[in-house]
Amino acid sequence: MSGTVLVVNSGSSSIKYQLLDPDSGDVVASGLLERIGEPSGHLRHTVDGEKHERDLPQVDHTAGLSAVLAAFDELGPALADAGIRAVGHRVVQGGAEFSGPVALDDDAVSRIDALSPLAPLHNPGNVAGIRVARELLPDVPHVAVFDTAFFADLPEAAATYALEKETAKKYAIKRYGAHGTSHQFVSDAVSTMLGRDDLRQIVLHLGNGASASAVVGGRAVDTSMGLTPLEGLVMGTRTGDMDPAVVFHLRRVGGLGVDEIDDLLNKRSGLKGLTGHNDMREVRELAGAGDADARLALDVYGHRLRKYVGSYAAVMGGLDAVTFTAGVGENDALIRAEVLAPLGFLGIELDDAANTARSSEPRVISAPGSAVTVLVVPTNEELAIARHTIEVSGA
Ligand code: ADP
Repeated sequence: MSGTVLVVNSGSSSIKYQLLDPDSGDVVASGLLERIGEPSGHLRHTVDGEKHERDLPQVDHTAGLSAVLAAFDELGPALADAGIRAVGHRVVQGGAEFSGPVALDDDAVSRIDALSPLAPLHNPGNVAGIRVARELLPDVPHVAVFDTAFFADLPEAAATYALEKETAKKYAIKRYGAHGTSHQFVSDAVSTMLGRDDLRQIVLHLGNGASASAVVGGRAVDTSMGLTPLEGLVMGTRTGDMDPAVVFHLRRVGGLGVDEIDDLLNKRSGLKGLTGHNDMREVRELAGAGDADARLALDVYGHRLRKYVGSYAAVMGGLDAVTFTAGVGENDALIRAEVLAPLGFLGIELDDAANTARSSEPRVISAPGSAVTVLVVPTNEELAIARHTIEVSGA
């Protein structure tokens, strides 16, 4: 084995991690520490296909990551024998200054921390994880990989809000995008699969968070997430696009506070707000049983997606490939069919058997004569982060 990279995705209340071989992509161990800051924490560590569950006392990021490292030593592989070459950290917001991955020293960590006002729900948790990991694993290089980096050179027309310009400048308000590591990984994979580097492609990353991107010749030219991951598609718990005046209305008429509105739009809306469930499988099941709210939620979800496909085809002046990825995109054949069925006029024709066949491999699901190639390509953000980490650290 060529050694491993530990990939850490430290959020405000959870730490996801994966130890993997950056060349082969083989995952040695992975896990999820949840409920940071709650009365009790919980850790799931998976190694050799076996899941180990641990209840923990109350944990902060330091105690949480210490518990993760202890789990490695207790359940395997022992960190001293795991050949860790570097640690890669997922960071949501890189602002205007980070257009690519960066090796972490004290100065870089402070600069990422200074971006927290732009991503108050994400960067503080990312930075807390980085600080603790650098302390606990001081002998290997640490690298930050930004969700925004792939969109750092969006054309200005796509990145600029039509907001009074001095105010936008003063508060660094622009469209930064997110999920960029996934959009880059998937669009690169599509170029390789189709053997073309001049593609006009749309990537639909449909997980619990969801985003769309338009990519021409490997460069992102538009994306659906904006200043924060709240803009764009309907998500598990986020509204996506909505008239900003709804916020004024809730404040003035409903008397809600800013934090309450933030929580409502980010955590209690989307599929969950419309149906009570943020998991697409449960929404599907309800809709199948005739639940009208679930049916409407699916229609809103599909309608929004179709609008993005149409508008991105217009932005790019044509379309060669549409690719579905992440939990919903990779698994839900019905949503793929519902979104694309009316788009025959764009040259999109699905192959029903290919669309419904179950597979975990990257695959083409359009009909042989379809002018636009439709694909399903499983994303692998951890592998992408591990590879960026090795490139930057030279480890
Ligand atoms: P995250 O954004 O948390 O990384 P994932 O990419 O893992 O999310 O996607 C998680 C979502 O994928 C789940 O909330 C669920 O809605 C959806 N999902 C997973 N499997 C299926 C399936 N078989 N059919 C429909 N949706 C699925």
